[in-house]
Amino acid sequence: MRTIYMDHSATTPLDTEVFNAMKPYYTNRFGNASSIYSMGQEARKAIEKAREQVAKLINAFPQEIIFTSGGTEADNQAIISYALTNKDKGNHIITSAIEHHAVLETCDFLEKLGFEITILPVQPDGLVEPEVLRKEMKPSTILVSIMHANNEVGTIQPIKELAEISHEWGAAFHTDAVQSMGKIPIDVKEMGIDMLSGSSHKIYGPKGVGCLFVKKGIRIGSFIHGGGQERKMRAGTENVPGIVGFGKAAELALLHMAERKEKLDHLTNLLKEGIMETIPSTLLTGHPEKRIPGSVSVCFRFVEGESILLMLDSFGIMASSGSACTSGSLDPSHVLLALGLPHEIAHGSLRLTLGKDNTEEEVKYVLEVLPKVIGNIRKMSPCAAVN
Ligand SMILES: *Cc1c(COP(=O)(O)O)cnc(C)c1O
Repeated sequence: MRTIYMDHSATTPLDTEVFNAMKPYYTNRFGNASSIYSMGQEARKAIEKAREQVAKLINAFPQEIIFTSGGTEADNQAIISYALTNKDKGNHIITSAIEHHAVLETCDFLEKLGFEITILPVQPDGLVEPEVLRKEMKPSTILVSIMHANNEVGTIQPIKELAEISHEWGAAFHTDAVQSMGKIPIDVKEMGIDMLSGSSHKIYGPKGVGCLFVKKGIRIGSFIHGGGQERKMRAGTENVPGIVGFGKAAELALLHMAERKEKLDHLTNLLKEGIMETIPSTLLTGHPEKRIPGSVSVCFRFVEGESILLMLDSFGIMASSGSACTSGSLDPSHVLLALGLPHEIAHGSLRLTLGKDNTEEEVKYVLEVLPKVIGNIRKMSPCAAVN
């Protein structure tokens, strides 16, 4: 059976070029980057090259990049380290209702330690209104963490405005850019970002590697304690092949950003229009224009997300309903609920996220299968009969 992968917001396949760049660091160039003999120094050089490649993608200085074990760790490090290091200035942290669990759960953890957390509501299209942030700022606010692009509905936030408001009150601004980095231009200087989280496996790199950008002059202490790696802020022997792969993936993302976006815009338009034309009682979720390339998110009335996923899987189509981490549970996604969707509609959500290797032919296949799948589920649903 053919398989069609349309779940690139969950993870992406490893690019062959990236894999080839990584291979030597698993085999004959296995040295520890802290060793002084030449094989160790080769590993060190490879890490520093990757640091330049990742920095370039977001217009940072290489010294401002810390490699981590992924986006989750970068979010934890940014928020926890910043809060603990700067608690003499205040104890108030602001975030939004549609953040990834890596941010929301970290804020919960800090609340238990005595920090005050404010969770901003969002508009029905997923946007955080800058004026809503302004109203919540106060002298004790030390940190604002708002994601760049949402993983479930694709909405892109007005980061520059949000960062500006944070700075007016002397707070630092962190953004989880795991879904946007490598897909749309990011300039940390122009946008006024103080800390930014990224992840390799969302941009055709290996899993288990990420980065935290920390602007020069921003104070954060050690997060993982031990050796002196990553300027003592993240101890532990570096994942050399992983970091090399992330660097290569970042380089390719920058090189191909415009052409990938153009292709994805074309495919997602076809897909979106096809779905809206052939499947009644369908709602597009997220912002109509301000969204990351490749993301189509919808809610179908009178169906249940898990049944859609199982039926699509039987046709070889891989997609998701809400975020990958929550699709094991019966609660509708916190993101869709935060957009103000009622439970029964949020339950019928489907997220199709396309990637650089999807084709028009695959989109057409999905457009053949999906209306049948939704139609069949609705036929079995007692609620749909009422309609
Ligand atoms: C995937 C994702 C993460 C987590 O990154 P990992 O590298 O998988 O730990 C964090 N935030 C967002 C928005 C994501 O999409």
